[in-house]
Amino acid sequence: MSVELPEAKILAEQMNQTLKGKKVGSHEVQDSEKLQRIGFMNKNHADYDILDRQTILGAESGGNTVHLRLSGDANLVISPEYGGRVQYHEAEEKHPSYHLKLNFTDGSALTIRLTSMGVVSAAETGDLEKRYTYRRDFKGAASPDSPGFTYTYFKDVFSGQNRALKPLLVGKDAVAVGVSNSAFQDIIYRAGLHPKRKASSLTEDETRGLYDAIRALVEERLSLGGKKEWTDLYGRHGGYTPRMGPNMKDRGCPRCGTAIRRIAHGGGHVYLCPGCQKD
Ligand SMILES: [Zn+2]
Repeated sequence: MSVELPEAKILAEQMNQTLKGKKVGSHEVQDSEKLQRIGFMNKNHADYDILDRQTILGAESGGNTVHLRLSGDANLVISPEYGGRVQYHEAEEKHPSYHLKLNFTDGSALTIRLTSMGVVSAAETGDLEKRYTYRRDFKGAASPDSPGFTYTYFKDVFSGQNRALKPLLVGKDAVAVGVSNSAFQDIIYRAGLHPKRKASSLTEDETRGLYDAIRALVEERLSLGGKKEWTDLYGRHGGYTPRMGPNMKDRGCPRCGTAIRRIAHGGGHVYLCPGCQKD
């Protein structure tokens, strides 16, 4: 259910189609103490009050983050990057459990629930850049679906670095936004690279292959409506199955038949094919 670049982009587009012009009558926060304590939600409940009585102006995505803009300089930063559900409900629908719910004046509603690490944060426009995921995804590195993410750009910022692939592709110092651990496993499998390789060890062809894999993954996932386990704003499942990841556990590599393995790497786990991805 992780929300990475393709899913964030789909959510923002759907919000523009469905939520634009709606007015927030009230909001409800539920079941949130732990998330507030660790900073995934505003520590102060009253921060969400800025959303009340405001009109949705539109939504944009950047990296793994959706930025919902409201009147009155109110904003909601939504980044359920390791798992979450963001769903729209017509007036008569029952609402699933949520951490934040916006009740619109026409009776419809938006519910947001994090199921793993992520952020749901209200912010006034002047404070937006204090929100880590907003700063990272809107003000930082290039997005793989943007015109600026050319091979020349990628090669420039990536090549020669004496660092492993994961911190270069995932997290706060990455050279591209929108890639989390899920997409990372898929991308390096497509490119036939072992996660422990360092950027400086890649040949020109391997660097090009990695760049192409990033672009191809984003395009495929967008065109198939996001990942299969993920549900969109309307509760519909996407159609994309990762080529590598937990879904490949106990299976053989479709390319070479080698048994898929899981290794601990970079503060998490990475599934890989020892046949196609040599270190
Ligand atoms: Zn293989």
